[in-house]
Amino acid sequence: MDKKDLRSLTLDELCAELEDMGEKPYRGKQIFSWLHMKYAENIDDMTDISKDLRERLKIKFTLNNIKTVEKFSSMEDNTIKYLFDIGDGILIESVLMRYSYGNAVCISSQAGCRMGCTFCASAIGGLERDLTPGEMAQQIYKIQKDTGERVSNVVMMGSGEPLDNIDNVLRFLEIIHSDTGNNLSHRHITLSTCGLADKIYELAEKKLQITLAISLHAPNDEIRQRTMPIAHKYSFDSVLKAAKYYADTTKRRVTFEYALIKGVNDSSENARELASRLKGMMCHVNLIPVNDVAENNYTRSSEKNIREFAQVLTDKGIETTIRRKLGSDINAACGQLRKRYKENRGV
Ligand code: SAH
Repeated sequence: MDKKDLRSLTLDELCAELEDMGEKPYRGKQIFSWLHMKYAENIDDMTDISKDLRERLKIKFTLNNIKTVEKFSSMEDNTIKYLFDIGDGILIESVLMRYSYGNAVCISSQAGCRMGCTFCASAIGGLERDLTPGEMAQQIYKIQKDTGERVSNVVMMGSGEPLDNIDNVLRFLEIIHSDTGNNLSHRHITLSTCGLADKIYELAEKKLQITLAISLHAPNDEIRQRTMPIAHKYSFDSVLKAAKYYADTTKRRVTFEYALIKGVNDSSENARELASRLKGMMCHVNLIPVNDVAENNYTRSSEKNIREFAQVLTDKGIETTIRRKLGSDINAACGQLRKRYKENRGV
């Protein structure tokens, strides 16, 4: 049987494992804080754990570490993009964005993705594998260590569909939140999904205080199905219903993401239809000028068009923002860097 990854265990699980090994449960706490507060990368770094126990831990567990392959700093803003190897040459990417309110990191939840959205670079090679909770957390730890700066916000908007890896994501959310570890408030975490309605209900039941973002990208099923294969499985209405349930259950306002693609979903009629579908919901729309991906022919809507689209929504009482573009000179968008790197290496 594969050894368990020490960094992927929740505090309770770690304490139970230590008890099983005949140790006092507080040892579990000590080890957890080595991993998630002091960001230890080797069992031998845990100097207040006896040599004997460290050896026994090594027999029973692994401590998997992701490795920084490359790092790109934007010349335009303070964005840094990291390319990590999670083992066997499998690559993922994370982005550090510096805002006036603090540092946000965009993390990946899977290597690749099997959702197949036609505008997204992460979808192109399909899914390589799910990330473990430890690998999700370590993206944040590596960046905190590298910059010496605290990460205050996390967005799960890197490669992958978090709700397609929900068990590991839920463990990650528990781990990262623990005050014995990194102590990141759930209110500062956003999870973005392409709209797996049944998993949205599952997440809602956990009553976490995270922000749910749903990638809508269309005002109706017909347009949505053109760009998002998942829309054939979950209708627009079923996604909205799940979003309402999430908002009612958690009392958290849901964000709808809408990437504007010229001639596909950006007309004023599309905006009016979207407004009427979202009317009365506790929500917020985030308009994203679509990023160019070489493999498709989509073009972003013009600035004027984006502003007009936003105005229609605002006039109809829907709170709307336009996403500021960061790091465009370093391929900072969605799976682009990983793809480019693989191509350059002929992988
Ligand atoms: N699978 C999740 C999270 C990862 S993608 C989801 O679908 O939400 C994060 C966001 O970036 C999603 O809203 C996604 O639709 C969007 N996105 C993907 N490719 C894009 C592109 N080329 N331009 C703009 N946004 C893109």
